[in-house]
Amino acid sequence: MRSVTFAHSPHAVTVGKILCLGRNYVAHAAEMGAEVPPLPVVFLKPSSALPAEPGKVRFPAFAHELHHEVELVVLIGSKAKNVSRNDAMAHVAGYAVGLDMTLRDLQAEAKKKGLPWTVAKAFDDSAPLSPFVGPEKIGDPHELVVSLRVNGAVRQRSSTGLMIFRIPEIIAYLSTVFTLDPGDLIFTGTPEGVGPVARGDVLEAELEGLSSLRVEII
Ligand code: MG
Repeated sequence: MRSVTFAHSPHAVTVGKILCLGRNYVAHAAEMGAEVPPLPVVFLKPSSALPAEPGKVRFPAFAHELHHEVELVVLIGSKAKNVSRNDAMAHVAGYAVGLDMTLRDLQAEAKKKGLPWTVAKAFDDSAPLSPFVGPEKIGDPHELVVSLRVNGAVRQRSSTGLMIFRIPEIIAYLSTVFTLDPGDLIFTGTPEGVGPVARGDVLEAELEGLSSLRVEII
């Protein structure tokens, strides 16, 4: 079992399932040569995707191309099933910035063959996260900026206002498919600017002004 923490608090939350959206920003769908989907594209990571050693992401020996995807991450605080968009936000316990680390070579091969993305997306260390911040400190979660620097150079920076499916809609939709439980996480999709990283690179992700994450690729 893995847990996440809140900024300025010793309180830890055990992580359940990790639900992730693909193609939730128009510019990222375009850079991947993908269509904007009519419903959210959803995949899962297990809780073992949270790094075993904080601050370290191990480059898997079975892949050649490891990409960064910086994303706003939502922590679910209470059980939700078939909730409306209006009721959805009451189930949010916090926000963080996370990296949906992706084995792009294996994902491209899976896409070509029509096979699942599981190995490309759900491997160990594929979901590093910053500390969470409570919703009372956030205001509108669609007026935040997520950014990523690699070795000091900005690679991704975007407003969460550019999401295709917004958080109330995401939670409402996911709750029709899955029972959302306290400790579940939702990776809300990456903006444009994804790209490769190498062993030795230092990645600094920010939920600007609120929380940050630093990882080294090893
Ligand atoms: Mg992603």
